[in-house]
Amino acid sequence: MLQLAQKQISKTKAKREAALIASDLRSGVERLGDMIAEAKRIVPFTGAGISTECGIPDFRSPGGIWTRYRPIEFGEFVASQDARDESWRRRFAMEEIFAAARPGRGHRALASLYRAGKIPAVITQNIDNLHQVSGFAAEHVIELHGNTTYARCIGCGQAYQLDWVKRRFIEDGAPNCTVCDEPVKTATISFGQMMPEEEMQRATALSRACDLFIAIGSSLVVWPAAGFPMMAKNAGARLVIINREPTEQDDIADLVIRHDIGETLGPFVGN
Ligand code: NAD
Repeated sequence: MLQLAQKQISKTKAKREAALIASDLRSGVERLGDMIAEAKRIVPFTGAGISTECGIPDFRSPGGIWTRYRPIEFGEFVASQDARDESWRRRFAMEEIFAAARPGRGHRALASLYRAGKIPAVITQNIDNLHQVSGFAAEHVIELHGNTTYARCIGCGQAYQLDWVKRRFIEDGAPNCTVCDEPVKTATISFGQMMPEEEMQRATALSRACDLFIAIGSSLVVWPAAGFPMMAKNAGARLVIINREPTEQDDIADLVIRHDIGETLGPFVGN
């Protein structure tokens, strides 16, 4: 059974090829444009970096969420009312940021390519709902780590609006489900929690059946999600990595663009 975890990879099974690291933004954008034009089926894989220009901090950059908070593992959430209270306090502290966020240039570029029929679906580690807001149909957003814009009971799966949770939280702390009395949690996947089976299967199928896979704004250290770029490469796709910092998988990529995502994908925003 697959659980969400962070690990460092030491080896890859993918055939190692010299990665082409774009010497500057312009040549990177040009090469990416050629690869997009040549591709028939593009699968984007997005991480927190695509949403930083929308005002949502990522986890690992300076000033990122982890420089302020230690993550609360799933086991802790289940075992402790204090951990549940703290988890909901953090979520409500981020409320205005999530509510105000609008899709950035990266989201809009991907939505343009989706409308043009080049992208069948996006695989995302993000929980912010911004791909849906940018124009992707909900069934074409594969959310590996869930969605923080609503809540679910961890027992029976009953969905709840955050407004309901907040009212109950103010009165009495982190609430339990009205149906089965198990704890209610944001509809996200925490460290130590099982990965969603159907989403993992769909992401696997998409990764194996594309000719261009573009990893955007992910440090590629959160597993099993970080396995998809390599899976696509092993299945014969070209791999592009867009991230302002190096990642551990740059050496298997066909193109690495170490520049700002909005600047890189802005030219692909269509009408
Ligand atoms: P991460 O924080 O580990 O990595 C983000 C990467 O994006 C970093 O390497 C950073 O250098 C890069 N980056 C940030 N802004 C960029 C920009 N404008 N241009 C280019 N690169 C940029 O994030 P991750 O790999 O997605 O993994 C963290 C986990 O955190 C995910 O599982 C996700 O569920 C969760 N998360 C989601 C959100 C969100 O939904 N927006 C925000 C924070 C964390």
